[in-house]
Amino acid sequence: MNKERLKHFRSLLEEQLRQHDGQVRDKQEEAREMNADDGVKDSVDMSLQDVNRELAFRLGERESQTVADIDEALRRMDEGTYGNCERCGKPIDERRLEAIPSARFDAACQSEAETRQGLDADIATL
Ligand SMILES: [Zn+2]
Repeated sequence: MNKERLKHFRSLLEEQLRQHDGQVRDKQEEAREMNADDGVKDSVDMSLQDVNRELAFRLGERESQTVADIDEALRRMDEGTYGNCERCGKPIDERRLEAIPSARFDAACQSEAETRQGLDADIATL
């Protein structure tokens, strides 16, 4: 990948990082506010509140994972391995990177990884 393309993807990643950073902060803020709101509630309100708190926590966690993926992609950029599939080493299609700048795998390896994860999940629930 040439320098101009790398620069382009770096700016995409940095933009995403800024967006997600903001979202993680918002979610943490929400969770804190819910925790702080411990006035007198009937039991229905209480359980709803618990659900909301759990949801905010999970959303925050997912955003954190996204931020970690982006950080990882920026690190690979510094190492000069950005844009190559981590599994088979082939260059990832730039249209794919355009859609998911933090992609670690090419389309073939990604779908294989997802299939395997699906299988693992099935086994785990048995
Ligand atoms: Zn691959």
